[in-house]
Amino acid sequence: MSDCLFCKIAGGEIPSNKVYEDELCYAFYDIAPQAPTHFLVIPKAHISSVSAVTPENSAVVAHIFEVIAKLTKDLGLESYRVVSNIGEQAGQTVFHLHFHVLSGRDMTWPPG
Ligand code: 5GP
Ligand code: ZN
Repeated sequence: MSDCLFCKIAGGEIPSNKVYEDELCYAFYDIAPQAPTHFLVIPKAHISSVSAVTPENSAVVAHIFEVIAKLTKDLGLESYRVVSNIGEQAGQTVFHLHFHVLSGRDMTWPPG
């Protein structure tokens, strides 16, 4: 999608601090970290949020969770939280599917 921030980041058009990349997904550190470790994992193909996941595009979501499992092991993160905000009321500000991976501090439940 031409006017999407995360499409531009995944395409290298806007610089980011890359954690990992493969043919399907891209992981990079959040510009405003909410925990000592905070990175985002996104599909390279534009999907607006979890609410736009369908049988046709859902394989990338399983792949992203495999990548999260591997990256967190590689980074030595034993405890972490994976979050995806859907819609403005839930706090979504970038409308390209992304999974936040947060780690390195105590976390509260329920989330605010
Ligand atoms: P959301 O609020 O949609 O759940 O998450 C969007 C995230 O993207 C926020 O945590 C925000 O800090 C991060 N973000 C927004 N713009 C940029 C950017 O240009 N670069 C990086 N690395 N992160 C960004
Ligand atoms: Zn996009």
